[in-house]
Amino acid sequence: MDSTTPAILFEQVEKSFGDLKVLQGVSGAVQPGEVVAVIGPSGCGKSTLLRCFNRLETINSGRLLVNGMDLSAPRLKMHQLRHLRSQVGMVFQQFNLFPHLSVLENLTLAPQKALGKSRPESIELAQTYLAKVGLAHKATAYPDQLSGGQKQRVAIARSLCMNPKIILFDEPTSALDPELVGEVLQVMQQLAEDGMTMIVVTHEMQFAREVAHRVLFLHQGQIEETGAAREVLTQPQSDRLRAFLSRMG
Ligand code: ADP
Ligand code: MG
Repeated sequence: MDSTTPAILFEQVEKSFGDLKVLQGVSGAVQPGEVVAVIGPSGCGKSTLLRCFNRLETINSGRLLVNGMDLSAPRLKMHQLRHLRSQVGMVFQQFNLFPHLSVLENLTLAPQKALGKSRPESIELAQTYLAKVGLAHKATAYPDQLSGGQKQRVAIARSLCMNPKIILFDEPTSALDPELVGEVLQVMQQLAEDGMTMIVVTHEMQFAREVAHRVLFLHQGQIEETGAAREVLTQPQSDRLRAFLSRMG
């Protein structure tokens, strides 16, 4: 993939669950190094869109290219899926750390299993990324010994250990106590400054305004408004986005 190839390209993507049409023809592109915030009311399809990007969901129609891989096909081969998952990291609201494994083991598992890295190499990677999220001293801790903010920073470090090209964040701070939100956003801001391609579903409008390059506002499975983050968030054009932003405070 050269620098002119979009990290993600989606055209007229549709996704239904039974009779429920969740994504109704969404189109767009994410460039390498771009940070895109996805916003919109609950149930509008934000998570579904994100999940299509790493094939946790399969699209019903339209075109979807992620990091040059065609995800429009109804079936992928196992090695394609494995390749995709190593290139596209995902960070969830609920952290999804393995509770019975130490922080270090949480970080070294996938690089060994999925990338075939040696144990020493995986440990070195893990230590590098733990330091990056400010948690080098927590390598031997278990998830339930960490605060929510620390857990989420571990989850981000775990994702980085796979050396992804793109990281998808699905409301990464929504489960956190308010005083812990900042430390996670700070790590994400650092990643953005390092040039990581990031798609972030978030209700943190200040983060969206200051860190995201672009905002995508979804309403009932369609892109209602999109554009440069500062413009869209300070001068929304559509009534729906205006109403949404005023509800967000
Ligand atoms: P958001 O993240 O914007 O809150 P979602 O993408 O999670 O919205 O969900 C959009 C709609 O799709 C909701 O009505 C939700 O109930 C429905 N939905 C999501 N996942 C599934 C699923 N696996 N099966 C059936 N319905 C689903
Ligand atoms: Mg969601």
